[in-house]
Amino acid sequence: MKALIVVDVQNDFLPGGALGVPGGNEILPVVNRWMEAFPRIVATRDWHPPDHGSFAVNHPGGKVFELGELDGLPQVLWPVHCVQESRGAEFADGLAVDRIDRVFSKGTRVEVDSYSGFHDNGRRHATGLGDWLRAQGVDEVAVCGLATDYCVKFTALDALREGFRTSLIVDACRGVNLEPGDVERAVEEMQSAGVEILK
Ligand SMILES: [Zn+2]
Repeated sequence: MKALIVVDVQNDFLPGGALGVPGGNEILPVVNRWMEAFPRIVATRDWHPPDHGSFAVNHPGGKVFELGELDGLPQVLWPVHCVQESRGAEFADGLAVDRIDRVFSKGTRVEVDSYSGFHDNGRRHATGLGDWLRAQGVDEVAVCGLATDYCVKFTALDALREGFRTSLIVDACRGVNLEPGDVERAVEEMQSAGVEILK
């Protein structure tokens, strides 16, 4: 059984949002089309409390996009984004949300960020995504969404680690590119780990 994992297609990650990913809106029709090809569809969402430790504003003197630390882990300090129940945290208008079987929230704990849809960055807590997929009989996943160089990458790498045959739908992803070339490097990293790259 195959499942599509749609990563963080939320208002704040679209252009004009708090942490807008360039071209993020362009993937909507592509993701919607791919949904038709999968018997199971899950979506992850970034779902932060307002005092979340990934927000620069919650670090004294912390600047947005600087590298800081959170609970002993390196942490990029982000602008406030995807606060629980906010408009920015809602799935993007135009995403075919009625086709989504199950939503998994991440980044809900103040003390740790969560790029992967499976685990927090410290790998201390699972979201339940892996168990749910296995319970559905899923053995193969395709990953798409936002952003290629963060949550998509970590979700795809974790999917492999969890034992799923994993592919990346490149056309249905966009990246942040904090450093030029980040997206390209992320795709290479996924590919060399064993993720099949679909173009
Ligand atoms: Zn976040």
